[in-house]
Amino acid sequence: DEKKEVKHMEELMVLIEDAKEFIPYGKVANYIPALAKANKKDLAVAVFLPDGRHFEAGNTTTRFTLQSISKVISLALVLMDRGEDYVFERVGMEPTGDPFNSIAKLEVRSAGKPLNPMINAGALAVTSMIKGHSVKDRFNRLLDFMRVLTGNKELSYSKEVAISEFETAHLNRSLSYFMKEHGIITEDVELLLDLYTRQCAIEVNCVELARIGLIFALDGYDPVSKTQIMPEKIAKICNTFMVTCGMYNASGAFAIKVGIPAKSGVSGGVMGAVPRRFGIGVYGPSLDEIGNSIAGIKLLELLAQKYNLSIF
Ligand code: GLU
Repeated sequence: DEKKEVKHMEELMVLIEDAKEFIPYGKVANYIPALAKANKKDLAVAVFLPDGRHFEAGNTTTRFTLQSISKVISLALVLMDRGEDYVFERVGMEPTGDPFNSIAKLEVRSAGKPLNPMINAGALAVTSMIKGHSVKDRFNRLLDFMRVLTGNKELSYSKEVAISEFETAHLNRSLSYFMKEHGIITEDVELLLDLYTRQCAIEVNCVELARIGLIFALDGYDPVSKTQIMPEKIAKICNTFMVTCGMYNASGAFAIKVGIPAKSGVSGGVMGAVPRRFGIGVYGPSLDEIGNSIAGIKLLELLAQKYNLSIF
């Protein structure tokens, strides 16, 4: 068994080396100023198995912020808080084909109701549905949920990244005010932005990300703590959104080339869930034009070919 484990690690290392060649063709995100400090050359992968073991390769100790990956977690929490009917009255289920921060279809197609929870407008609407008495209380509920999902009681967030985004989030403010005008959100926009930017700044490493991916791959069951962390139905909804909208406006190509539920973020993280088989965490901050980790996507393509991962 030990020999097998060494073999798995070596295989991951080879894939990392191959994928690394794509790093120079991408760019680190800088529209949130603090993200520009990331090390462009980092690339890491972790694979978490249902038996509790995990394999990792690359710079796996680097911590990075969740950014858009947090949209899946807040959606799961809000579905538990409010139920499907309430949530989907305020946010839709259709992919947009537009960039993640686009405002265009909010007016044209939906009278203020965002098309899905994975674009920024939809994620802002979802975050505004997190229950609690104050921003602090609501954020702590989300953080507690993240701590359960990762098994890391010390999990926290980067104040620097949260503040950096809060101070520059003009577009997210516009989306929020637009939705407020249409009654999709009712709370104070500054408070919502405070909560949302902290949510996006929660920090993980790629092993923790792989563990969350595994929980989604097992429809909400955590094999490490042996508990059902969210109802199966909710995990399945999240997995479906990851397939249709998880990789921004490259979700279609990703479904063809890799074919697993996955969610990326502009920090360079990607969480993957291979149904019933394993969770994957990838980190590589050099991004392609769409905002996905350029080498991370390549790595997932190589993994998918090697281990036949596509669900289709
Ligand atoms: N906090 C980021 C934003 O709202 C998340 C974007 C992303 O990762 O796609 O702009």
